[in-house]
Amino acid sequence: MTYDVHIIGGGLAGSEAAWQLARRGLRVRLSEMRGGGDRSPAHHTDALAELVCSNSFRSDDDEKNAVGLLHHEMRQCQSLVMAAAARAQVPAGSALAVDRDVFSAEVEAALAALPTLDIVRERIDRLPEAGLTIVATGPLTAEALAASIAAATGADSLAFFDAIAPIVYHESIDMDVCWMASRWDKPSKLGGGIKDYINCPMTREEYIAFREGLLAGEKTTFKEWEANTPYFEGCMPIEVMAERGEDTLRFGPMKPVGLDNPRTGRWPYAVVQLRQDNKLGTLWNMVGFQTKLKHAEQVRLFRTIPGLQNAEFARLGGLHRNTFLNSPLLLDRQLRLKAAPHIRFAGQITGCEG
Ligand SMILES: Cc1cc2nc3c(=O)[nH]c(=O)nc-3n(C[C@H](O)[C@H](O)[C@H](O)COP(=O)(O)OP(=O)(O)OC[C@H]3O[C@@H](n4cnc5c(N)ncnc54)[C@H](O)[C@@H]3O)c2cc1C
Repeated sequence: MTYDVHIIGGGLAGSEAAWQLARRGLRVRLSEMRGGGDRSPAHHTDALAELVCSNSFRSDDDEKNAVGLLHHEMRQCQSLVMAAAARAQVPAGSALAVDRDVFSAEVEAALAALPTLDIVRERIDRLPEAGLTIVATGPLTAEALAASIAAATGADSLAFFDAIAPIVYHESIDMDVCWMASRWDKPSKLGGGIKDYINCPMTREEYIAFREGLLAGEKTTFKEWEANTPYFEGCMPIEVMAERGEDTLRFGPMKPVGLDNPRTGRWPYAVVQLRQDNKLGTLWNMVGFQTKLKHAEQVRLFRTIPGLQNAEFARLGGLHRNTFLNSPLLLDRQLRLKAAPHIRFAGQITGCEG
């Protein structure tokens, strides 16, 4: 079979592109390296459209938030990603969070049903010299292809560090200490009196000791070539935030405002929030707790958080290099590579945030 379009990368952007083209009858080859013997350093499955860093699509408010407006526009375009997200939704206040496995399964099932789409489990190592191509290989583009892109663009590939947050088993959380609520007691978008977040309260003493633990904790060290790579401000490791000042965390991910502890009737000094990570409600994601602490250190320190003293972790936090293009310089307004216009880029590799 010959193809009208070759899409490289079956993540969120590649899956959406394949859907939009193939449902219009174009013949599409979708090349995804996972499932063909390769894995990225952060993906855990071979499923198409696996969400990695967070299970949240962020705000779904299309009136006051740019991300929510983008969701709205995508729905107008019959987006597969948005339709799958709706079916996989879990409670998360005004954000749109999903069960990752349900989400991926929905995307895969819809793509598998398209007769002109060929999903091939293969790694592509070079930019094709001809033929319409969409490169959607994401922040963890495999090395050989990244080198081929760097050669074609003449630019050193840009990169920064990004971190992922730990996930805790619900049954290991002490609900006699924690409580369920959204900030300012906002009702859940899912209705039915659902309260979206698990909140772990901290006293001043507990908070100070926790911050000191973060500062002293043993961290993953950088390789030499990584040493000058900056962090992404929107996804900063928690211990890096802690270094910025005593109160930085209390004004960031550990903000207590609007969270009345029902046992005291007051806001705690600081709060750790967990958001549901799967439909069953068995997995909970520590919000904003991305970290590069060593794994044993994470387990020890996070168990000092009130309510998490017996926490069991389904996933621990980690750090990844995140590669992207200097799009304003290299791409035209249709996201075509100026130097090779048969190649388009899509998704996070273009430098957009998720
Ligand atoms: C490091 C990292 C940072 C993240 N940062 C954010 C963020 O800032 N904001 C946010 O909202 N979400 C973030 N996420 C979460 C979310 O997973 C991504 O936003 C989303 O997956 C990006 O979609 P994408 O299609 O661009 O890339 P991906 O979903 O990563 O898809 C790329 C796909 O290409 C495949 N691939 C790579 N190289 C090749 C190759 N040579 N040949 C064939 N296949 C290949 C990969 O296996 C993968 O399936 C991040 C995830 C990671 C891993």
